[in-house]
Amino acid sequence: MGSVLVISGPSGSGKTSLAREVCESFGDKAYFSISSTTRNIRDGEKNGVDYNFLTREEFLNGIDNGEFLEWAEVHGNFYGTSLKNIKEALKQDKIVFLDIDVQGYDAIKKIFPEISTSIFVTTKDIDVLKERLNNRGTETSASMQIRIINALNEMKKIDEYDFLLINDKFEESKEYLYAVAKASIIKRSKTKVDDFIKNWNKG
Ligand code: 5GP
Repeated sequence: MGSVLVISGPSGSGKTSLAREVCESFGDKAYFSISSTTRNIRDGEKNGVDYNFLTREEFLNGIDNGEFLEWAEVHGNFYGTSLKNIKEALKQDKIVFLDIDVQGYDAIKKIFPEISTSIFVTTKDIDVLKERLNNRGTETSASMQIRIINALNEMKKIDEYDFLLINDKFEESKEYLYAVAKASIIKRSKTKVDDFIKNWNKG
């Protein structure tokens, strides 16, 4: 059985770039889950790479057909984690990277209590977050406002995560995230202790 690593945090915290780079460094031992969303595609994004971009109707059909492990409305759009690829990756003992919001994490820890590890990524303070969102240049001022308000709400859930990472220096943050991902493989709760002791004590 593989493990699930949930990475959450405000838009603009840098969590997606971190998660993607660290996931890549594990090669075929990890799988980055590509979510589906109804939000508009941004400049530079690719359908099927950054997200599967769906219409509202396609998304609602996906819900009806049980295609999502979890889904949530974030910043006024739908986002969902596809079930099929994750099942396959877990069967192959991979670390599954899930870049999802706090509602998604609520669902995942109920579905996979034994194998999930979580990390909340944020910035040093709100000014840095605003600056990064501004520099990214992908948001309208209305959508920036929504993201800042949501950031404050998401921050209230930090207590529920196993780890908190202040993404100040990118390279250093990558090392921390790598360490957490690596540790997720040996989470004690993944092991059936009674069976383990029985086998261990065979002599
Ligand atoms: P963005 O629009 O900036 O790409 O993402 C907005 C938020 O949606 C981020 O916090 C991101 O982690 C979250 N998100 C992306 N995919 C999913 C998903 O499949 N499920 C949930 N619950 N949240 C997601």
